[in-house]
Amino acid sequence: MRNEEMLLIPGPTPVVDSIYDAMASETRGHTDPRFVAIYKNAIDQTRKLFHTDGEVFVVAGSGTIGMEMALVNTVAAGEKILVVSQGYFGDRFITLGQAFGIEVDVLQSEWGKQVDPQEVEAKLGSGTYKAVTITHADTSTGVAANLDALVPIVKKHGALIILDGVCATAAMEEDMSKTYGGPDNTIDVILTGSQKALGVPPGLAIVAFNQSALAARKQIERVPAYYCDIYNWIPIMNDPSKYFATPPVNLIYAYNEGIELVLMEGVEKRIVRHTAFGKAVRAALGEYGMTALAGEDVAASTLSCILYPDGVDDSTFRAALGAKGVVVAGALAHLAGKAFRIGHMGNTTEQMLAKAVELIGETLNDIGHTVDTAKAVERFKVEVATAV
Ligand SMILES: *Cc1c(COP(=O)(O)O)cnc(C)c1O
Repeated sequence: MRNEEMLLIPGPTPVVDSIYDAMASETRGHTDPRFVAIYKNAIDQTRKLFHTDGEVFVVAGSGTIGMEMALVNTVAAGEKILVVSQGYFGDRFITLGQAFGIEVDVLQSEWGKQVDPQEVEAKLGSGTYKAVTITHADTSTGVAANLDALVPIVKKHGALIILDGVCATAAMEEDMSKTYGGPDNTIDVILTGSQKALGVPPGLAIVAFNQSALAARKQIERVPAYYCDIYNWIPIMNDPSKYFATPPVNLIYAYNEGIELVLMEGVEKRIVRHTAFGKAVRAALGEYGMTALAGEDVAASTLSCILYPDGVDDSTFRAALGAKGVVVAGALAHLAGKAFRIGHMGNTTEQMLAKAVELIGETLNDIGHTVDTAKAVERFKVEVATAV
């Protein structure tokens, strides 16, 4: 890999050479048949990734555009949604919904915990909700959503499920053909971004709608959006030689390579790999007296929010680690200064993460905390080997 630093923040994530190479291919016109063939392949592979018979959208924009596209095409102003929030990115649906005149109810968990499915059940029983938003892995807390429990409850109450997969897609199970305990219990919309577990540079929003979600769009007379109205994009997604707004040609090259790598490795294998990495990173850092905010029973496999032991200064630690070539992220909101976030997703490898564990230990030793680096690295390797 030609990267000089290990970018272990929860997105963007490390990009591999073949993706850089694809991205550096010659920029062609967006209607050039050579580009159109690549765009078409990327769209087809996206359908395959999500196992959907609905429509997928691969457009310029970040994950947030995907959130907006998901919401405004399924829920009209004045209708109500329930936001199931397990952190900062879950909460983003509150202000997003309100910006479009959507009525928003919220269930928030304590940071580091999941929302209790029984609370969701009670809330949905108390009113009429058009959709429920769920964040698959909340990037602020490292908490994963309990889809096995939530999907059947939401479906029992007839609401659509909008799943924010920005920090989960291609690492955690997101299968739109999967039925959760009943033939109609499926996920209706999944939205994601290119730069997290997919391992492609930032800049693409990827969204999938099933037939129920498309039917919801049909019921909305006028969507309060133009770029985000899926009716402007459906013709292009079915025939990418058509024009609505210029696609980011070089990013599509990159994404096409990225999704081929994902499907070549296989999603099931990736799920196992990410589960192993998550467990192993948390166990290894535990050897340094660092604990994950989320317990193992609710932890996401793609990133972890790690609490500092007493006396470690956040900016000193991250600057010293950064000088060794490992970039991790600070924590958000009330956890700022008290924790850091480490991504272990996408194109990250076992070797890379073992090295990161070692350098984190060296950094702690450099700033005056005596830890056993070799023991933590060994723990990491053993955990990966037993989990895979
Ligand atoms: C990063 C992230 C987003 C926002 O994505 P952007 O690409 O920054 O717009 C939304 N949801 C989750 C879960 C994320 O991790």
